[in-house]
Amino acid sequence: MYNKMYNKLGICDEVINFGNKILNELKERFEEIDETAEYNQLKVISAMQENRVNATCFAATTGYGYDDVGRDNLEKVYASCFGTEAALVRPQITCGTHALAVALSAILRPGDELLSPVGKPYDTLEEVIGIRESKCSLKEFGITYSQVDLLEDGTFDYDSIKSAINSKTKMVTIQRSKGYQTRPTFSVTQIGELITFVKSIKPDIICMVDNCYGEFVEKIEPSNVGADMIVGSLIKNPGGGLAPIGGYICGTADCVEKCAYRLSAPGLGQEVGANLGIMPSFYQGFFMSPTVVAGALKGAIFASRCYEKLGVKVVPNSTESRHDIIQAVELGSKERMVAFCKGIQAAAPVDSYVTPEPWAMPGYDSEVIMAAGAFVQGSSIELSADGPVREPYAVYFQGGLTWYHAKLGILMSVQKLYDADLIDKNLLK
Ligand SMILES: *Cc1c(COP(=O)(O)O)cnc(C)c1O
Repeated sequence: MYNKMYNKLGICDEVINFGNKILNELKERFEEIDETAEYNQLKVISAMQENRVNATCFAATTGYGYDDVGRDNLEKVYASCFGTEAALVRPQITCGTHALAVALSAILRPGDELLSPVGKPYDTLEEVIGIRESKCSLKEFGITYSQVDLLEDGTFDYDSIKSAINSKTKMVTIQRSKGYQTRPTFSVTQIGELITFVKSIKPDIICMVDNCYGEFVEKIEPSNVGADMIVGSLIKNPGGGLAPIGGYICGTADCVEKCAYRLSAPGLGQEVGANLGIMPSFYQGFFMSPTVVAGALKGAIFASRCYEKLGVKVVPNSTESRHDIIQAVELGSKERMVAFCKGIQAAAPVDSYVTPEPWAMPGYDSEVIMAAGAFVQGSSIELSADGPVREPYAVYFQGGLTWYHAKLGILMSVQKLYDADLIDKNLLK
């Protein structure tokens, strides 16, 4: 019965059996993931109970949004869950980049310096900071930037970080996830060590962590190990696939207050910002998030082991510990990238009949291919894959609202490579 349904969707028996054999080898890892999800589920429920979530929290507000109980209480839930004094969780924060830009510009003043001790930040932040010239960048406001790259083995260059910290250094930005780079993603413990080190040199430095793709992957968050602020997007992990827009900033009361003044206006802060009826998806998405993240993690590890067996380089490999939900698969050729993405697209609940093709996307120096069939546009907690069409022809794969969908997507990607004769079929046996 089970095989017949997969056959109906286009997966042949050889590929199904290949997948099942691999799953047998992943039982222990999957158990670990389930245990983390269970812990985090309890953490979320506990935060909701502590703050007495009830039906009035789901009511819509309009206009200024004064006395928006649902909004204010959701922010308390985030703060309780992530162990911070305060939180800003809003549909008015349009995406992760926006949340990060708000956090940076809330803290930094002309003459201050921002330090990234973990190498180059995420692409979109280059323009926020002014690493790439852009209108209204921090650089235009007289804020300087310095960067210390990681050592060759992917660890922190403590000596250089120490010498980079000077009298102007006001804020440090630490990106947890590797994003679209090849460096390792940092564990929360590693981030904690880095923050402790930075604060031992200059205690009043504000440490912000870009937490995108990292939420609920571990049992603790960077806010539990000294970060003054953690920042992320609601169309990634913490939105649980249900939030249709939004971002969050959790941190000290002082930092969050400044962020609120920056987001709305000095003097208004957290008091304004109607929820427009979006609260049910924010609460329920946060509730679902630990399980959704677990499904995405299983998908990432399954993909990693499948492609390892097919002789493809994967980062991280199928046995390494995980600190975010991104899986890089270095397919080695354009044809294989296209076939992989066709598979992910063909497995989607939305737009499954669309064929992804490489295209020249603005802002990139090579063609990019993307596969996504999502309920929320651009949501990357939903099953998606993309990558620049150039050496080493790596596809970055992430998400999956359910493990079963992630599994189908990966099997379908293998099927497309199989159909196009782009893998050694003996390796499936
Ligand atoms: C996605 C992401 C961002 C930016 O988020 P958007 O919602 O795409 O603006 C920033 N940093 C990291 C590490 C990310 O993964």
